[in-house]
Amino acid sequence: SIRKISEKHDKVFVSGCLEPQVNAPRANAAFVVLARNQELEGVIQSVKSIERHFNRWFHYPYVFLNDGDFNSTFKETVLNYTSAPVEWGKIGPELWDFPDWADPAVTKEGIAKQGDAAIMYGGMESYHHMCRFYSGSFYKHELLQKYEWYWRLEPEIKYFCDITYDPFIHMIREKKTYGFTIAVKELKETVPNIFRYASAYKRLNNLTSKGLWEMFLEKPEPSPTPLPESDPKYKKPLPEEILNSEPGKGALPDIDPEAMEGEVYNMCHFWSNFEIANLNWLRSKEYNDFFEMMDRSGGFWTERWGDAPIHSLAAGALLGVKDIHYFRDFGYRHTTIQHCPANAPHRQLPRIPFLEKTTLDEKLRKEEDDYWAHPDPPKENGVGCRCR
Ligand code: GDP
Ligand code: MN
Repeated sequence: SIRKISEKHDKVFVSGCLEPQVNAPRANAAFVVLARNQELEGVIQSVKSIERHFNRWFHYPYVFLNDGDFNSTFKETVLNYTSAPVEWGKIGPELWDFPDWADPAVTKEGIAKQGDAAIMYGGMESYHHMCRFYSGSFYKHELLQKYEWYWRLEPEIKYFCDITYDPFIHMIREKKTYGFTIAVKELKETVPNIFRYASAYKRLNNLTSKGLWEMFLEKPEPSPTPLPESDPKYKKPLPEEILNSEPGKGALPDIDPEAMEGEVYNMCHFWSNFEIANLNWLRSKEYNDFFEMMDRSGGFWTERWGDAPIHSLAAGALLGVKDIHYFRDFGYRHTTIQHCPANAPHRQLPRIPFLEKTTLDEKLRKEEDDYWAHPDPPKENGVGCRCR
């Protein structure tokens, strides 16, 4: 009988591949796609891929955003590739441009210097706007106000595997806040001072780690005996006057990037071109205080801070390990970096040393194992880092 066969074999052997359940309630969620008209080809590739592997069953809406206007070719072409609702949003200067208090001479000079120093995208003003927009503005856009969750979609990405369940619903059920599928190391020269400010935020707000902060530390623990002030190697922490001051012209104070108050950033971050997260977290006072302090430092133009390390360090300061979900089952590629589930089997996982040092209970420890440990990434792409 069928029953007997199905006990002996995988279900698909008996029944074939099943279409996923589509009549379950949906989450209050949307895809968010920031793009320009000239990226139409890449956008189509991404929409085709996510539709084929997920959204043809789930029909989540799309919100397309642009600091310019989408032309009719762009809009009409995109609509050929999905039957889900699509909204088109223009980003006003209040969400896109640098803040009023930033001196244009300072921003221009900062960006030009990074161009001269051949920092990746450093000399490109629009890229700085994009990073700042994804760090502290996109969730303020009017079209996103009605949503509680978003899934970021970029041009020129690929999903390899069918996603046959609703990740939003699963995140809600498991009380998750932020989901990623790739973690990599940031280019140091784009963020020389980012960690000083992030760790100062954590210190000034008396935030204690919920186990995630350690993911971003070069060494799992701060050096046990701080150097005495008389030591020539002693570096002053960021003065509180600077951190709490009213915004100035937006120039970073002259500080030594090596001075890290005992903790050193290991450059790890969740790669934010894919992310599924709760918008209410980004809208929270804590997150926006964090963004504001980071913004006031001027690092979005005097350096080239990406939204990926911003989201990651905010998560490290504000969230715990159990708030994060690693979508190990999503096959995903952006440019040269990919995550392939076949390379991240659920079993035979090495432990991550820093997690051994946390004081979490056994249940949480087990969750960490499930969510965090992952094996060596495929070598040929130099993919990923293990964040340890
Ligand atoms: P990379 O992935 O870091 O190489 O950067 P991308 O060029 O892919 O940019 C990241 C995202 O921001 C993509 O969704 C781009 O379409 C979008 N983007 C970047 N710059 C601009 C811009 O000036 N205007 C608009 N509307 N979108 C932008
Ligand atoms: Mn990209």
